[in-house]
Amino acid sequence: MIVFKFGGASVKDPAAVKNVGAILSLYEGEKILVVVSAMGKTTNKLEEILSCLLANEHLKFHQLINDLQSYHHIILGELFREKHYKITQTVDLIFDGLRQLSSQKISDKLGFEYDQIVSLGELISSHIVNEFLVELGFKSTWMDARKMIRTDDNYQEANVDWTLSKALIKEDVAASFLHSDIILTQGFIGHTENGSTTTLGREGSDYSAAIFAYCCDAENVTIWKDVPGMLNADPKYYSNTKKLSKISFKEAIELSYYGASVIHPKTIKPLQNKNIPLFVKSFIDPHGAGTEIQSETKDDGLIPSFIIKKEQVLFSITPKDFSFIDEQNLHGIFELLAKEQIKINLMQNSALSFSILVDAKKVDIFGLLSLLKNNFDVRYNDDLELVTIRHYNTETIESICAGKTVIIEQKTRYTARFVLKAAN
Ligand code: ASP
Ligand code: MG
Repeated sequence: MIVFKFGGASVKDPAAVKNVGAILSLYEGEKILVVVSAMGKTTNKLEEILSCLLANEHLKFHQLINDLQSYHHIILGELFREKHYKITQTVDLIFDGLRQLSSQKISDKLGFEYDQIVSLGELISSHIVNEFLVELGFKSTWMDARKMIRTDDNYQEANVDWTLSKALIKEDVAASFLHSDIILTQGFIGHTENGSTTTLGREGSDYSAAIFAYCCDAENVTIWKDVPGMLNADPKYYSNTKKLSKISFKEAIELSYYGASVIHPKTIKPLQNKNIPLFVKSFIDPHGAGTEIQSETKDDGLIPSFIIKKEQVLFSITPKDFSFIDEQNLHGIFELLAKEQIKINLMQNSALSFSILVDAKKVDIFGLLSLLKNNFDVRYNDDLELVTIRHYNTETIESICAGKTVIIEQKTRYTARFVLKAAN
């Protein structure tokens, strides 16, 4: 069997859902487990709905639910024409349940509440897509990922219990494939021992696809996206991007570590562990070869990749007593950063100063300054960007540094990183 994942953009409107059917029809004779995300921007909308619920903004809460329901109704109307009574009822029941929350007491366990609400997007989407496939004549069975992926109760970022999930998934999937060619299930969601819904972290549907593939020993996984494959740079920032045809699991993990956002970072490990190839392909051009991620490393260096992080702030932290930056000082600084949940994108030290680069949006600059001010002098420099080049050469370095001031430069054998400031 093989695993396909269709993200929000690939099921965002009736044409997109029809395209899913067209892609599946190219794979006649295969047993395919299909993981779908919520349609379009539904997950963001559900987050807003939750915020309104928590803030007691009842009017807006109901308005947003009505909007989201209409959005799904438009899709239903186009996909099913005449006989869409049953599926509309299934979808409407989910929205009714959501509305009723306004008259119920919400617990103070925010993560729990988040997962119960935000998971609904995938449920709705999977019901609609499955019903549509059945209408098209596919032997497709809807399955509840919550009954198959077992997690702990770390809501919003739940950790998978691999042993239990494997047992649950293997049995259910094998039974369903006896009478179906397609299993249509949800990304992003799982369940605890008590049966409460959990989510695996935003954008977690890729990870779900990898979990199913790992547990079923799938032949391969394909993530269908609106790009021709993994590109060597974000087309938002670079013209002239190139597709990476074949890279290793290791390279994919490196790229996602430095911030490439094509695949959810947790996706690669389970696939690497079982040597299951991952394809990233275009749902616009399904015959295109896409990118293949597999164990072989020989093609990794063929094309340099660029990863850019904007809006960075650099803190330079110097002990007030003129002591060296040593294990003791670093220990204190790291402890504080971990407690504040500050994620470091790059660090560097000299004898008297320790520098860290952080996303400006994820740090309270003045809060951090005041936490450090007793023992350290801290300076900061904002409006910076961090560019990482994998498999760099002189030419690529010159091209990204042109016209900019280099504040920090770090190089290892395959990776060069630059903290840059636009010249005024
Ligand atoms: N729907 C979820 C999200 O938008 C999961 C996913 O799309 O991967 O974060
Ligand atoms: Mg997505």
